[in-house]
Amino acid sequence: MTYDPGNIFGKILRGELPAYRVYEDERVLAFLDIMPRATGHTLVIPKAPSRNLLDVEPDDLAAVVAAAQRIARAQMRAFEADGITLTQHNEKAGGQEVFHLHLHVIPRHTGVELRPPLSYKETPEALAAQAEALKAALAG
Ligand code: 5GP
Repeated sequence: MTYDPGNIFGKILRGELPAYRVYEDERVLAFLDIMPRATGHTLVIPKAPSRNLLDVEPDDLAAVVAAAQRIARAQMRAFEADGITLTQHNEKAGGQEVFHLHLHVIPRHTGVELRPPLSYKETPEALAAQAEALKAALAG
């Protein structure tokens, strides 16, 4: 399996598609999922091309996980979360829909189930507000 740079997240990385970006460093970009399974659902991707866990360079994987930790801590405050769920899918059989490695970082509230995947499209206004709240928490 090879990396196809035409995937949606590759286009977001190159600025060819818009995204609600919340965090960036030399190795990693994080932005909101537009079909969130819970409010504040964030995707963390490496900047280096990699299809998924099976081909990523370990240093890029480590950078993605470190960024996910920062985002998780900020989500706890920004969304008054009670916990965080991480998910990550590999290849079609593993539930992967977009073939650029991504880690889902999902704020959780006690007693609230995750929405089914791809079942709900968040409004642009809500996504913009959530991105601002998360960026403020990351900065603080
Ligand atoms: P996967 O099943 O590959 O782990 O998850 C792909 C994720 O990408 C899904 O949660 C889906 O909502 C999200 N997604 C699909 N298209 C877009 C898009 O154009 N922009 C953003 N921000 N997220 C997307």
